[in-house]
Amino acid sequence: MTSSIIEHLRSRGRLDRMFVDGEWLMPQTQARHSVVDPSTEEPVAEIALGSAAEVAAAVAAARRAFATWSVSSIQSRTLLLDRVHSLILERAEMFAQAISLEMGAAINMARSTQVPSAAEHIRVARDNARSYAFVTHRGDITLMREAIGVCGLITPWNWPLYQITAKVGPALAAGCTVVLKPSELSPLSALLFAEVVHDAGIPPGVFNLVNGNGPEVGAALAEHPDVDMISITGSTRAGVLVAQAAAPTVKRVAQELGGKSPNLILPDADLLCAVPAGVAAAFRNVGQSCSAPTRMIVPRARLQEVERIALEAASSIVVGDPRSQQTTHGPVANRAQFNRVQEMIGIGIAEGARLICGGLGRPQALSRGFYCRPTIFTAVHPRMQIAQEEIFGPVLALIPYDSVDEAVEIANGTVYGLGAHVQGKDLGAARAVAARIRSGQVHINYPPWNPQAPFGGYKRSGNGREYGIEGLEEYLETKAILGGVQDASSSGNAQEQS
Ligand code: NAD
Repeated sequence: MTSSIIEHLRSRGRLDRMFVDGEWLMPQTQARHSVVDPSTEEPVAEIALGSAAEVAAAVAAARRAFATWSVSSIQSRTLLLDRVHSLILERAEMFAQAISLEMGAAINMARSTQVPSAAEHIRVARDNARSYAFVTHRGDITLMREAIGVCGLITPWNWPLYQITAKVGPALAAGCTVVLKPSELSPLSALLFAEVVHDAGIPPGVFNLVNGNGPEVGAALAEHPDVDMISITGSTRAGVLVAQAAAPTVKRVAQELGGKSPNLILPDADLLCAVPAGVAAAFRNVGQSCSAPTRMIVPRARLQEVERIALEAASSIVVGDPRSQQTTHGPVANRAQFNRVQEMIGIGIAEGARLICGGLGRPQALSRGFYCRPTIFTAVHPRMQIAQEEIFGPVLALIPYDSVDEAVEIANGTVYGLGAHVQGKDLGAARAVAARIRSGQVHINYPPWNPQAPFGGYKRSGNGREYGIEGLEEYLETKAILGGVQDASSSGNAQEQS
């Protein structure tokens, strides 16, 4: 199936093309990028990279299409999203294989999590658009929520399809037209997604895909004067560059950036539940999740108990070939990520944190591939680099605390504020602690994932919110119409849908 994914894309000419104005277009330049299988370190395909010329063509197409798409009926937009949703589910196995190949997700994880959760963003955007009040009244003011315009969407490689659908779904539902630039490191699932959107019957120019790297294609999108909004999910470094490039044209900038999420274990927590689930959450997707709870903040008196349970939980992780059904965790996604994880493990050792499992190098019996050892450090001081910086790999820090006030201070003591967890039996106390944490989401006792819950960052984790109603509103402008109402006293707070 792996090679059949490449064969599927190659035989249709997709690897050499971008999707612009409803057509699969050859770029003007010859630039290519090798897609590397992280489990073998071998190139598996080459894709064409676009340039500012393809960005310009795609933005022009999106601008033309905006005139009609932005005033199309909600029914027609939701029907389109409905078809996109069905096609993703129909082609789920292809998507899972592509994601596993391009970024190393274990195939079972790609099937059970990466693809279904990506489809959910389309479903949620469809459902929310159906019930959203695009026109409301406040006294004699009419408030219209209208599509902001042409949107540039820049996405990362870690949850490649999921990050695409989290932007494209609500943007299209809102009536925006889009130019997507996926990560050059995970282009296969993005090309399959463009096929889905095409096959769903999207009008030309409403959705465009330009492959390319950040400094060239991403920057060209961010600075383009005819792009009204740019939304990036990626590192804080890239988010800052995008905001700088966007500033002269005063476009809206939405940033979903890095994190170093805390998992605060309150003194009354049931450790046998809280700790294994915390280890699993930290190592989910091999730690390559922006909201991974990689700082477990633990009552000092219970640290040894936590260490023992955490070690046991980590022992059940099976790192290996992502194609194998037995594998729970594949490699990290690319060489840069592998090097970063190794560097940070080395820094943790040098800082004097104590390893309870994992460490430098690959797991035994894996001599090639970007495989890392699931690593847990204990007795980590909150100011250590491994407790402050996003590592984006399977590295968990256990940080002891003496009082709940100190624990909250540690939880809030990084430049990030994306996700957070609180564990405890007394739900009132857990909620009180959740209220004191400065982050976009706080999860108490591991509730199930909910795509209606807004997601986004405080502090340097970003600006704006994705998912749910807030994710739709991100792509809307507000217009207030004053006057022109025949009988202002009768308008009240009525709601209408367009
Ligand atoms: P990255 O910042 O290297 O790249 C992200 C995207 O930005 C890619 O498409 C890249 O090509 C583009 N890019 C890079 N430089 C650019 C520039 N100068 N101008 C325009 N675009 C540019 O990040 P990554 O390595 O792909 O992903 C990992 C990072 O993403 C981590 O820091 C992680 O926390 C973050 N992330 C955040 C969220 C979230 O929702 N907050 C979700 C997933 C990942």
